[in-house]
This record gives sequence, C-alpha cells and structure tokens, in this order.
Amino acid sequence: MKWRRLTSSLGVVLMANCYIAWTMDCERVINESPLLGPKNEDESEKSITGFVEILEFNDLKATLFFVPDSVNVHKTLIPNIKEHGHEVAMHLHPESFGDGHYNKPLGNYSYEEQRRIISEALKAWTDSVGDHPGTFRPGNCSANNDTYRICKDEGFVGGSFSIPGRNRPELYAVWVNASRWPHRVDFSNKILEGKENFVEVPITSLPGFNVENLPPTGHPFHLRIEYDTGNFHDFEKVISSSLDAQMDQGGDSFLCCVTHNYHPYWDSSSYVRQNMLRLINTIRELTEKKGCKIKPFTIMDTVTRFCK
Ligand SMILES: [Zn+2]
Repeated sequence: MKWRRLTSSLGVVLMANCYIAWTMDCERVINESPLLGPKNEDESEKSITGFVEILEFNDLKATLFFVPDSVNVHKTLIPNIKEHGHEVAMHLHPESFGDGHYNKPLGNYSYEEQRRIISEALKAWTDSVGDHPGTFRPGNCSANNDTYRICKDEGFVGGSFSIPGRNRPELYAVWVNASRWPHRVDFSNKILEGKENFVEVPITSLPGFNVENLPPTGHPFHLRIEYDTGNFHDFEKVISSSLDAQMDQGGDSFLCCVTHNYHPYWDSSSYVRQNMLRLINTIRELTEKKGCKIKPFTIMDTVTRFCK
C-alpha cells in the first residue's frame, strides 16, 4: 500500500504528513505478574497520567494498551483519557492474566487456544470498562499466523503487534523481514502485507540495527522511550532513516513509539521523562527539516486511515 502522493492532480506540491503514535503498554502490578510491571497501583497511575500529560502539553495523542487487570484498576481514569482524544486499547500477556493458568506467550498457542484466551481476556476487559476496545497489542509482540485472524474474529479492527526485525523464537515473536509500515494484513503469513480488512501498525524499528549494550539479541533498536544507550544519535538514526524510507515511497510517513507504565513519567528529573521530551523535540526537528507536518495519531486513527 502506497502513501498519498506529494503532488496533487493540479501539479501543486503538497506538504507530506508525518503521523505519530505514542503508545504505552499498561501492565499488571508486579507482585501479581511473573513479568515486568509497576511496583503498585499508585505508581502505575502516576506513570500513565504523567505520560499523557506530557503528550497533552505537546498536542500529541496517546494510545494506552491496558491488560485486563490494569484497565480494571484504572477504570475511573478511562472516561477522562478518552474525552481528551486518546485511545484506550487492549494488551495481553497470557502469563499475567487471571490466575496464571495460561503460562506461555500468546503466539505459542493454537487457533482454538488463542481464541479462548483472548475471548476470556476481552470479557474481563469489557466487564471493567464497558466498550469493546478497537485495537490490540500482544505482550512481547508474540503472535503466530493465526493471531491477526483471531483478533478480527474477536471484533478488533487492527493493532500494533510487531517490532519488524525482532527475532525472539522463545517468545514466539519472530518478525524478521516483516513489513515496517502500517498496512492491511495477510491472514496466512503475519509478516506480509495483504488485503484483509485488518490493519497492522508496527512499532518503528530499524531491522539489523542492534545496539551492543541493549540485551537481548534478536532485538533491533526501536523507538522505546526508556532505552538508555548512552547515545541519543541511535534514536535520531532510526527516526531519520524511517522518515526517509517512507518519503521515498511517495510522501507521508508514520512513526510509532512505545513505553511501559513502570517508568516514573511523573518525575521531572527522571531519565524517561527527559528522554521522552528529547524524543518529541528530535521528531519535531527532523520532520521540519525534511518538510513534513506532524499529525498526532492514535493506533485507531491509523487503522481508520488505512481502511479508507
Ligand atoms: Zn506488555
């Protein structure tokens, strides 16, 4: 799928848009989860609201991917978040859902098992907040060739499943050679662009660019706000090359950043908050330099744009 061309039918040169999505995975508190998570509910809330406040101050939009337990804990925040134009979406790690009965990453399971797990999680999620979420992100980007179809069958219209170039077979998160930009999916092969009415919005990465002090292997550098490589040029390299690659294809471009609710976005002296502000400024500078206009987008906004 091509982006809109830069030249209109009258030959007038149009300014390219750069659509930017800022996403946060909102995990369950750590003592109820075998995975990473916030220390407690209070810190989780402060992290989420701190992240959203930074975006609001900068006229940007958040997509918050909540696991079912987290959306239940924070359900009083949800109406206010939505009223301000941000998206509340669903995240799921089977390993931290419910009583821990499902103890493997999502992509490990068969069609029937995944369908059952996602359906149960969806029920818990909607029992907490009412509305059905429109988009989905699997924990660890774990998915197999059935996962997109299952999510469509469960009523989602798209999501952010991938980090192109990620190669973590033990997590069933293999996205080597996956399409790097938003696209309609193929239900038979998750790394291909297809024609289905279901849109994938990848987290922006630079496949093959692995930074030495960031374990583990099989983990290309991507726009993860909490990354501390000691060299901010790593972020600039990913942003700049991603903008160039997309603009070369016909004009508009897309960036998707990711973070988690266990970082202290409420603390103005914290590394993550400073990194996020620096990232916002860098994206502004680079888009301006390349002649793009920033358009704040949620993952759902992106899906809608691609389903036209
Ligand atoms: Zn997660």
